[in-house]
Amino acid sequence: MSSTTGAACPHCGWPDGAEPFQVLSAHPTAAGGTLWTRCACGSLQARVVDGGGTRVVSRGRPTPAGC
Ligand SMILES: [Zn+2]
Repeated sequence: MSSTTGAACPHCGWPDGAEPFQVLSAHPTAAGGTLWTRCACGSLQARVVDGGGTRVVSRGRPTPAGC
């Protein structure tokens, strides 16, 4: 069973199946857990971890450098 969606970040091309660029927080759940991560381009991602692997369920916009 594939553990990823095979998708990639539309902003910078970082593969969803790769290790997260930066993990902001992790929240264990009954099914596995939820990860909040930041992509290499600065976009915030919510990842759900379950028995089948990890998938990105929500993705924000890149953070402009210097705000
Ligand atoms: Zn990205």
